[in-house]
Amino acid sequence: MIGGGPAGVAAAIYAARKGLKVTMVADRIGGQVKDTLGIENLISVPKTTGPELAGALQQHMDDYTITKREHLRVDRIEKGALKTVHLSSGESFETKTLIIATGAKWRELGVPGEQENIGNGVAYCPHCDGPFFKGKDVAVIGGGNSGIEAALDLAGIVKSVTVFEFLPELKADQVLVKQAEARDNITILKNVATRQIIADNGKVTAIEYQDRETEQVRTQDLAGVFVQIGLVPNSAFLKDVVEMTRFGEVVINEKGETSEPGIFACGDVTTVPYKQIVIAMGEGAKASLAAFEYLLKN
Ligand SMILES: Cc1cc2nc3c(=O)[nH]c(=O)nc-3n(C[C@H](O)[C@H](O)[C@H](O)COP(=O)(O)OP(=O)(O)OC[C@H]3O[C@@H](n4cnc5c(N)ncnc54)[C@H](O)[C@@H]3O)c2cc1C
Repeated sequence: MIGGGPAGVAAAIYAARKGLKVTMVADRIGGQVKDTLGIENLISVPKTTGPELAGALQQHMDDYTITKREHLRVDRIEKGALKTVHLSSGESFETKTLIIATGAKWRELGVPGEQENIGNGVAYCPHCDGPFFKGKDVAVIGGGNSGIEAALDLAGIVKSVTVFEFLPELKADQVLVKQAEARDNITILKNVATRQIIADNGKVTAIEYQDRETEQVRTQDLAGVFVQIGLVPNSAFLKDVVEMTRFGEVVINEKGETSEPGIFACGDVTTVPYKQIVIAMGEGAKASLAAFEYLLKN
């Protein structure tokens, strides 16, 4: 099992319950769940928090014999009847089947000043980092659902939020847009391109952006920039191992099988639509049952 988010944990538990010998390699058990505050759509659990759910995932796994290798990354996989998995520690091991559940991470903006100021004003997780900007002016880059949700969350903590959307229209659901428009301290700028994030003495102080219609370049003073332009699958280490889309999603069929026999995948790293916890868990269970079936036949 590579990955310890909802998909990887579900897959690990299902595999252990089938009596398979399971090793989980995970950079961070809990995955994206750890970056989430309130979760209200995990069916049968009306309300929980990210840290609580991450703890519950860990606790559920502890009921089974699962070897956990946390804080390690898989760097490379050699395919074949026996697959060799190379870890960031320099170790490697062989396995007949692999389940990839490496999820996704925040997409970066790619403008000057972003990388250099991560943790000094540039942030990706409003739930985690919002409180550091209490009473300050911040920007949210991206006017999709996650951007507008972030703006609404932040508006309760910070002094003001300005949303910068590249397109002439917001992509977020109308219900969210209406809520944002009703807030006094949220301003929405459309059709603007972020050009750079400006810092002074190691702290973000302003953002430079261009009005795409008038081409006028402007600077806005602020203390924080939350980048909310989507997620990218954690699949770079799978190049030339399994088929992927041009977005880096692992192509799977309805059983979670990849293009490589014996390698299965599930959750946010795959082509499965609608990236959600309950979906990742179901996909993990499915991939695990398919891996068990594969082992029976091979
Ligand atoms: C801020 C935020 C809020 C969200 N809120 C909700 C919500 O309310 N409800 C909901 O249903 N969904 C929500 N989601 C989406 C949900 O968290 C994801 O759909 C879900 O976590 C996907 O599970 P996953 O196991 O596929 O991947 P992830 O949770 O991304 O887990 C991936 C795992 O793989 C590990 N990993 C990655 N690369 C490697 C590597 N090379 N080697 C080893 N390990 C690796 C990671 O450390 C992690 O353990 C939210 C997401 C975010 C970011």
